[in-house]
Amino acid sequence: MDKVIKSEAEWREELDDLAFKVLRKHGTERAFTHDDFPKAPGTYLCRGCGAPLFEQATKFDSGTGWPSFYAPLDPKMVGESQDNSWFMRRTEVHCNRCDGHLGHVFPDGPQPTGLRYCINGVALTFEPEE
Ligand SMILES: [Zn+2]
Repeated sequence: MDKVIKSEAEWREELDDLAFKVLRKHGTERAFTHDDFPKAPGTYLCRGCGAPLFEQATKFDSGTGWPSFYAPLDPKMVGESQDNSWFMRRTEVHCNRCDGHLGHVFPDGPQPTGLRYCINGVALTFEPEE
């Protein structure tokens, strides 16, 4: 995989304020602000670098107000790290190509994986299937 490495100034230029805050500063968008993606078949790409991260087929309605998936498109593309901020033990997930922060993964998702990837919508762009 070709890593995408950019300076903070370059990211700031490319991303809007919220996307920068989420992807580069581990921010979290407010719930119910960026989960208005089409329901059509397609792929969710990293807003930072365009890497394909999730598929519509694995998206489900978690009721949280954040786009939720039960599996990444390719586990190699979505990295994990321990996040102990806010006095909680959570597993942070990020794009492995540009290291952009995406959200968190929780062990309370639906089958077949039992996982819930809780992703900031602003960190994703949707590409409908041709
Ligand atoms: Zn990326």
